[in-house]
Amino acid sequence: MKKLSSDVVIIGTGGAGMTAALEAADQGVDVLVVGKATLGRGTCTSYAAGFFTSSSLKFSSEQHHKSTLDVGRSINELPLVELVTQRGKECLERLKGRGIGLLPMDNGYRVDSRGNDKLIPGYPLVTSMGHALDKQGVKSLPGFHCLELIKEDGVITGVLGVTADGPAVISAPSVILATGGAGAIYLRNDNPVGISGDGYAMALRAGCRLRDMEFVQFYPIGFAEPGMAANLVLPPFPDAAKVYDAKGRNAFDGLENCNTIAEAISLFRDTASIFFYRKHLEGGLFLDLTGVDDALWQKMHSLRLLAKKKFDFRAKWLRIAPIAHFFIGGVEINTEMETTLPGLFAIGEVTGGFHGANRMGGNALTECIVSGTIAGRNAALLAKGRGPVEASESNVKDRNPEWAGQKGRGARSEFGRLFNRVKKTAWEQAGIIRDLEGMQKGLELVSMMEDELRALNPGNITEGLRANRTGSALLTLRCILRAGIMRKESRGALYREDYPETDDANWLRNIFISLDRNRDDLILEDRNGDRMD
Ligand SMILES: Cc1cc2nc3c(=O)[nH]c(=O)nc-3n(C[C@H](O)[C@H](O)[C@H](O)COP(=O)(O)OP(=O)(O)OC[C@H]3O[C@@H](n4cnc5c(N)ncnc54)[C@H](O)[C@@H]3O)c2cc1C
Repeated sequence: MKKLSSDVVIIGTGGAGMTAALEAADQGVDVLVVGKATLGRGTCTSYAAGFFTSSSLKFSSEQHHKSTLDVGRSINELPLVELVTQRGKECLERLKGRGIGLLPMDNGYRVDSRGNDKLIPGYPLVTSMGHALDKQGVKSLPGFHCLELIKEDGVITGVLGVTADGPAVISAPSVILATGGAGAIYLRNDNPVGISGDGYAMALRAGCRLRDMEFVQFYPIGFAEPGMAANLVLPPFPDAAKVYDAKGRNAFDGLENCNTIAEAISLFRDTASIFFYRKHLEGGLFLDLTGVDDALWQKMHSLRLLAKKKFDFRAKWLRIAPIAHFFIGGVEINTEMETTLPGLFAIGEVTGGFHGANRMGGNALTECIVSGTIAGRNAALLAKGRGPVEASESNVKDRNPEWAGQKGRGARSEFGRLFNRVKKTAWEQAGIIRDLEGMQKGLELVSMMEDELRALNPGNITEGLRANRTGSALLTLRCILRAGIMRKESRGALYREDYPETDDANWLRNIFISLDRNRDDLILEDRNGDRMD
């Protein structure tokens, strides 16, 4: 087995992981950043519309704080909200100082896409962050699929993973989990395929707690045209853009408080997604861009990108429907980005707490930068204090799966088919509109698929990685369903048809999940504003 070591290892090369890498390197320690693909690629960050919400001259940190809580329906972790809303602007300015192109807006920043007419804004963002990492001499290991966090005597000592050449272990006194969410476990989603919940599964198996996993954010406006990949329709939208139902009526009629596309995608993703999903089921939902001025098609970056599609937007309405977009819950952390496992930090979308029951537009990228800034520095300081460690041979050997030593590119079709069934179950049983019966059926299907997965016995690395992805997805889905069943109300991104009202008297609470490894079962507890011990 290949053996490597570093002072700080960062799993994930999105906005959170790369920010942490820059900050850790500032402290003069050895930093190794690993990801499934090359630096910045295959990340949600690279797909992002590029908006960062933060305070500005026209938007105070108090306003940012209040909007975050309003959108999060008041079950956000307050110290995290305080942290991100107070430090957002400073951390973004710090990133700008490293040469990352950010332009100020009324309520934050956006990626400077000038000169990148044909690219989604997330792409120049990760590219420039990658250049900054190179400049600082940060090492990266692309194509490293992390399988497990290694801990000994209750402290992290490294990570076990696999590359195309076989298994590898990286010993490190500080590890930062920056693996993003799990949007790709849904049938309709806008995430890269590798964003499938590995971080949740690894954290649970290492003894960390997850929180707020019942809340998955759906984005109201995604492509649903036959033959087109389900993806988010990139904002901003021109004023002349309209949304109609199958009968040609304004699709916003009857949607409380929300009258424009801009409101639907920044403040009301939850109610707009439910409302639009029903319209989609009733016959269809359509985006009408036929009235948009010719000049705007040239001027707006989002429209120039749309115009690349083989679709006559000036003559036809585009069929749209909501899509799975963002994981609101995740690994429990404190304001130092520490998890309950000493030496393990978590940052970005893989964490939970900041967003509460729903996420405000632009808050995810800001969270990545703030959490990355804090964790990078803390992880470096901890590594200096602990000194080098070595993950013990026997510990690693026991965990190393047999398939990791079998090179091979092909995979039996059963692996792909099983993952597709997970996606269908997530969409149908843990989707935009849920009820007890559906979620219980979802759990039964999860158990069946877990049995099938165990029986598949991967024969090579490709099959093993597919099995690993499916295992992570199933565990993540189990968390979503169990927590969804426990929360007997509707709040934010969770809508239960059998409990359609928000129940503040009983449910201004958060659900925490841990894994009982002996019984291979989840333990759920609901707590009222408790903080991590
Ligand atoms: C289409 C789209 C548009 C968006 N637009 C915006 C926006 O404008 N503003 C905003 O605030 N938010 C936006 N978001 C959300 C935001 O982009 C994400 O929440 C954020 O980028 C997540 O960053 P991250 O660094 O936590 O994870 P990611 O950027 O998703 O990176 C995850 C990394 O973890 C790695 N990884 C995962 N599992 C493993 C493993 N087992 N082993 C090794 N590596 C692993 C992946 O390879 C990847 O490198 C958008 C999301 C999407 C999908």
